[in-house]
Amino acid sequence: MSELHGIWYDGRSSRGQPARLDSPSPGRLRLVAGETVREFDAASVRLSPRLGRLARQLRFADGAHLEVEDAERLDQWLPARSRIEAGVDWLERRRAAVLSATVVLVLGVWGFFQLGLPWMAREVAPLVPPAIENTISKQALGLLDGHLLEPTRLPAARREALQQAFHDMTRGLPRADGLRLDFRHAPGLGPNAFVLPNGQVVMTDQLVTLAGDDEELMAVLAHEAGHHEHRHGLRRALEKSAMLVVVGFLFGDVSGTGALSVSLPVLLVEQGFSRGHETEADAFAFSLLAGQGLSPEAFARIMSRMTGDGKLDAGLGPMGYLSSHPPSANRIEAARRAAEEAPAGTPAGD
Ligand SMILES: [Zn+2]
Repeated sequence: MSELHGIWYDGRSSRGQPARLDSPSPGRLRLVAGETVREFDAASVRLSPRLGRLARQLRFADGAHLEVEDAERLDQWLPARSRIEAGVDWLERRRAAVLSATVVLVLGVWGFFQLGLPWMAREVAPLVPPAIENTISKQALGLLDGHLLEPTRLPAARREALQQAFHDMTRGLPRADGLRLDFRHAPGLGPNAFVLPNGQVVMTDQLVTLAGDDEELMAVLAHEAGHHEHRHGLRRALEKSAMLVVVGFLFGDVSGTGALSVSLPVLLVEQGFSRGHETEADAFAFSLLAGQGLSPEAFARIMSRMTGDGKLDAGLGPMGYLSSHPPSANRIEAARRAAEEAPAGTPAGD
């Protein structure tokens, strides 16, 4: 049986009538619909692309068309199909495969952002030469100096005492060499502290004023030293810039200019630490404090002060000490637990 069935529309009325289609000789087709009989060249009509299981349409130049059941025979009678049509059809027939491929792709991209980029940044950060860390840090601080940060108003003796205490606390750390402490007056920022990739810790005068005692300040500084030891700032900035480049490639900004025009220093200032980084820096601080015979309880006290001060959410972007991604209450709780495990006055060796 080399006959296909369909419905014939003459192009003038919207009513269709049953029709049959066959091929009396190669390259020729014959349509019979009621009294209409048309015999024509296969090349004179256009066959709609095969789209899944949709009926095909044969379109005639005069506006008439035949809706016909899909069959392999149609493609034998009218073999000229573009590659695109064939491709669309292939996709259509493999909807499930396409869907699962999309899901796999999305999961892959998500996984890459979640795990791949942080891993890459952790591997790459140690390879960044100190000179570049220095440049990035200077530029980042330059973005802040002048509008958010002003020269410190603390007496020199006070500053030197804190610098000495910080030096004593961090001496012997693997990355102690780069660490140094500076101060800034920052009424707009309030009590805050942060560390740059080159190890420069900046503490605001406002934080010094807020603290009940120097142990509380050492607790904050121990936390910043933790960020420095783990290279959190640079890692985060690398992750974010790589992410911007990848997003640029995925979503059309192929030149990558949008991504690359955001420089590392800007990302340093704007991008916060992840919850994991904060928790890691806290844990580092607790053990550093305990090792010095200082109680992590001091960390809980200064955190409570900062929360009570109502300034906790007004800090310097997420880079600052204040932007605690893990809720402050949790961090205070963790500090108290660490304090119970390591009471003050029992230095763990020297
Ligand atoms: Zn932090």
